[in-house]
Amino acid sequence: MVIKTAEYLISSPDWEKCPKPNLPEYAFIGRSNVGKSSLINLIVNNEKLAKTSGTPGKTVLINHFLINQAWYLVDLPGYGFAKRSMSQRKQWERMIEDYLRKRQNLVNIFVLIDSRHSPQKIDIDFINQLGEWEVPFSLVFTKADKSTQAEVSKNVKAFLNKMRETWQFLPPHFVTSTVKKSGRDAILGYIEELNAQ
Ligand code: GDP
Repeated sequence: MVIKTAEYLISSPDWEKCPKPNLPEYAFIGRSNVGKSSLINLIVNNEKLAKTSGTPGKTVLINHFLINQAWYLVDLPGYGFAKRSMSQRKQWERMIEDYLRKRQNLVNIFVLIDSRHSPQKIDIDFINQLGEWEVPFSLVFTKADKSTQAEVSKNVKAFLNKMRETWQFLPPHFVTSTVKKSGRDAILGYIEELNAQ
């Protein structure tokens, strides 16, 4: 898919204030600092569209971007940000659950996982929650340039194996590096495929 236009639309405090659900929507989420903003900017070919972490995790807003006048890309606030207060965490949980369960045009959520680490409980817990809510998702292993290829493969395999303990089917997965600009075409190709369905 060629990205012709990508524009920031709006940041919403909850799902009801999001733009009209009249276009297919793809959301990105992950642990704070996983590389979400960098990946979104790589995908849309604009280094400044999503804000890379200056104040990570502070804003709890749903950020909508309109791509090619044809689909929405959504930047969701990440999880696991230690400096959030308990009430901010509760607010995050409520907002994310509502958005994921009620947003009718949400086609897929990309869950970002740091490829440098072995499976982390916080990511597995979030994914299992998606399963309970029946939200379609895929996995994106980020920052692949930071370790050797063998190390990345080992961590991806370990993550999928961990999932096999509870999941019958495994979701699609992608490996990305914003430094090497890799993984972009595969993700855009997948979105194109889903848009055509
Ligand atoms: P966010 O908090 O999930 O939005 O993460 P950011 O996109 O702000 O990235 C967090 C940090 O990781 C920044 O210092 C980025 O430059 C760095 N980063 C993100 N993606 C990559 C990557 O693919 N490779 C490398 N080497 N660093 C990355």
